[in-house]
Amino acid sequence: MGGITLDDMTAAGALLEGHFKLSSGRHSSRYLQCALYLADPARAEAAGRQLAARLENAGAQLVVAPALGGVIIGHEVARALEDVPFYFTERSDGEMALRRGFEVQPGCRVLVVEDVVTTGGSTREVMDVVTRRGGVVVAAGAIVNRSGVENPFAPLPFTALLTVDVPNWAPDACPLCASGVPLTKPGSRPEKQ
Ligand code: ZN
Repeated sequence: MGGITLDDMTAAGALLEGHFKLSSGRHSSRYLQCALYLADPARAEAAGRQLAARLENAGAQLVVAPALGGVIIGHEVARALEDVPFYFTERSDGEMALRRGFEVQPGCRVLVVEDVVTTGGSTREVMDVVTRRGGVVVAAGAIVNRSGVENPFAPLPFTALLTVDVPNWAPDACPLCASGVPLTKPGSRPEKQ
């Protein structure tokens, strides 16, 4: 049921090559900037349809995604599922939370969507928020799985449109640092080392 290839990401200008500092603190030679992939609304809509097709058996009644990264794809998945609303979580004093009057009915079946799963940390935080509100997380989906694990949320069903193994290193073992390549934090300008 469809999927995205690295060539698709490259064509969208979303596969960046260089020397990047990941949010985990590790360094990598590649970075997938999903926001660039989703910059084309038609592409975002198609990705949402593909994820929805793979996950519709979960019978979700609500889609929840973490802001900001998950908002566009979460919205598109909910649109494709039809008659399913979309909520997003956001950080409030560092804590993931549902705000803005978003209410989860007890027993509501919830699909959690992300753009990129790296450690799965923010997806798990969203799951915790939903569960604390009485919802039941039935599945998870992402555009990109770069966790190195096929399903970091097992036994919960999980699917990603693209699974990539991106080489990454602790800073003191990074070959790019060793050869003096300037470090970039994605979304910002190169850092002085
Ligand atoms: Zn490095």
